[in-house]
Amino acid sequence: MATPSDCYGCSLCLLSCPMWLQRRDVRFSPQGYAGAIQHGVDIAGMAEELSACLMCGACDLLCPEKIDLSGMIIAACQEAGLTDVSHTSVPDSFSLSCNPAVQQNLGPDDFYIIEARAFHAQYATRVRHYDALRHTTGCSMNLDLHRMAIPTGIGSSSDSLGQFDTGKQIEWLIQGRSFSRIIIENPADQSMLAEITGKPVLHVSELITILSNGGAHA
Ligand code: SF4
Ligand code: SF4
Repeated sequence: MATPSDCYGCSLCLLSCPMWLQRRDVRFSPQGYAGAIQHGVDIAGMAEELSACLMCGACDLLCPEKIDLSGMIIAACQEAGLTDVSHTSVPDSFSLSCNPAVQQNLGPDDFYIIEARAFHAQYATRVRHYDALRHTTGCSMNLDLHRMAIPTGIGSSSDSLGQFDTGKQIEWLIQGRSFSRIIIENPADQSMLAEITGKPVLHVSELITILSNGGAHA
């Protein structure tokens, strides 16, 4: 398996890295982490950079060398004493998204926000499902040009440590989109998305409840 020493600085991992996209500073990127490790930088002194990572896993999929970047980051976080950052868990609502009621109750006016970390961890088996859901219903999704899920960052350790600006991320996420309702997979996203957008925000499980109660797509 490739290791950080195999990184040759192609920068592809930056393309879907929310941390880098917000800061535009290579020290806050998987490329920067790999470079620091290659050059023998004291990991304990990288706590600020490491704690800004959302642990979204997009970089693993984009690296042409197939370096285990998430594994590298987790190991570095542990070395820097940032165990809370590396072990934050996220809910996985994939099975809910597969319920036929979700497809029936989604429409072109909906903005569906996939939970990024769970999605990237099972990317090969999930990307086709979400592509089909998007094409069948006409809803928009938080997928970028590389079909990586753009995370909100809400509820992450980097958010709570003040290392990631979730308000700025949401503004960027909704920029240029037209929607009347937001569907979320991660309940942590609900209140902040509702506050910033002023739109109704439903958890994906509520789409199933709506249909079972005889409701239709709003
Ligand atoms: S896990 Fe996400 S935020 Fe962290 S370095 Fe990789 S792409 Fe960037
Ligand atoms: S994509 Fe991989 S090889 Fe390229 S800069 Fe990032 S970590 Fe290094």
